[in-house]
Amino acid sequence: MQNILNYINGKLQPALSGNAFYNYNPSLGEVYSTIPDSDEQDVEEAVKAASHAFPSWSATPASKRSDILLKIAELINKNSEALALAETIDQGKPLSLSRSMDIPRAAANFHFYGTGILHFASEAHPMENRFLNYTLRNPIGVVGCISPWNLPLYLFSWKIAPALAAGNTVVAKPSEITPMSAFLLSEICTEAGLPPGVLNIVHGTGPKTGAAIVSHPQIKAISFTGGTKTGEWIMKTAAPMFKKISLELGGKNPNIIFADCNFEDAVKTSVRAAFTNQGEICLCGSRIFIERSIYMKFRDAFVEEVKKLKTGDPLNADSNLGAIVSKIHLEKILSYIYLAEKEGGKLLTGGKQIHPEGKCKNGWFIEPTVFENLPYNCRTNTEEIFGPVATLIPFDSEKEVIEYANSSGYGLAATIWTENLNRAHRVAGALESGIVWINCWLVRDLRTPFGGMKNSGIGREGGFEAFRFFTEEKNVCISILKTHPSPLSRGE
Ligand code: NAD
Repeated sequence: MQNILNYINGKLQPALSGNAFYNYNPSLGEVYSTIPDSDEQDVEEAVKAASHAFPSWSATPASKRSDILLKIAELINKNSEALALAETIDQGKPLSLSRSMDIPRAAANFHFYGTGILHFASEAHPMENRFLNYTLRNPIGVVGCISPWNLPLYLFSWKIAPALAAGNTVVAKPSEITPMSAFLLSEICTEAGLPPGVLNIVHGTGPKTGAAIVSHPQIKAISFTGGTKTGEWIMKTAAPMFKKISLELGGKNPNIIFADCNFEDAVKTSVRAAFTNQGEICLCGSRIFIERSIYMKFRDAFVEEVKKLKTGDPLNADSNLGAIVSKIHLEKILSYIYLAEKEGGKLLTGGKQIHPEGKCKNGWFIEPTVFENLPYNCRTNTEEIFGPVATLIPFDSEKEVIEYANSSGYGLAATIWTENLNRAHRVAGALESGIVWINCWLVRDLRTPFGGMKNSGIGREGGFEAFRFFTEEKNVCISILKTHPSPLSRGE
């Protein structure tokens, strides 16, 4: 059995307590590695290493930091097959998805921020030719990055890359449910020449390791992606220390289909938007609102497409859906399927746990599931399920669907399908959502602001937004005239 190790001060080591816990392969339902059960002592050691590394890393020219990040990107690409396999074994997603999305994107994150830092500039504000203000953006110091299990290396690197590029040193924790790719990343960082202590990866549970990172007074900023409840706790805990906080939280995203849409495209993309990664993407469109005049036609075409999806061994090339990440999460999704039935939902397809034949028979699989006949404001339609469960809801007018879409407490992403340009812009403007896709889904330009409103979080990642988060602004005002009237003599 493989033992995952912490990466602290450039060294791989077990938790100082010697404790570890099990890591499962969800497609087999079996333990396949151990994870360090790190606590405050490990976090303390990581913070010491990061504090020690900070003066030198922050003073390292951006071009040199860039070279190292680009080397990490190159090594991720070079090891992409091993990383993709690790991601699939750990998380349960189809190998085809790890290969085409997760790992290329992790490399792209390092590449994007490794080059981005060479273009990052700050402002100057001249005043009437007498004074010049200029804004310095300095790295913050030691920062904490905490990420979830659904897109493990993809989201871990999305935080670490800008933090490091901006000159911070990092104490990071991947999800304890999917720690393997972060462990492999530690070996890559060493090979890329990242100096010891610049990035420290401490494995362990949220309440123990994660909480120790959030509570540590020397960690000046926390970038977190995960559940809304955890985000709430992090905000409360960090508030008395006035830490900078970025929270990317849950979603319950509306997908709005108007009668004038490109029908084929809307059906195919809506299936992908609901079930990619077993529906375990914060951006999945799980509430599908359909204009009543095409409701039946869309419903039948959608369900027919869903029935074609294959769920099974994620290593099989023809599996569209793999395993659910953990037994606990499987039970949570099944409980929502039960709830949907109790709330009066009509099951159109799926709804059951699957036990595939062969080696995956004890794995955790659920059929892609579609319900109709549920009120837009019932629990099934307002709470995040984060699994392969979608609901279909008819609507009669633009005004009505905007009300339905905005009725959830979340505000992460939304999709609109229409060929009417005016309506597309109007509805996009009215939706309470940090991200809106029109006639497409999950198209990501890394320069754009990424994040949600309402219970979906605070702050934005992506592009220069991330550099702004991971730096501290300082305004410097200088008199640029040799002689000038003193402000007091001018009565200011
Ligand atoms: P989670 O909140 O349980 O865990 C996320 C991370 O936080 C893990 O590393 C966990 O160990 C850690 N953690 C848990 N408790 C902690 C605590 N008290 N202090 C510090 N760290 C703690 O979430 P999850 O189940 O891993 O992920 C699923 C959630 O993430 C869903 O709600 C999903 O929508 C959300 N998500 C959001 C985005 C986004 O960009 N908005 C992206 C992906 C996932």
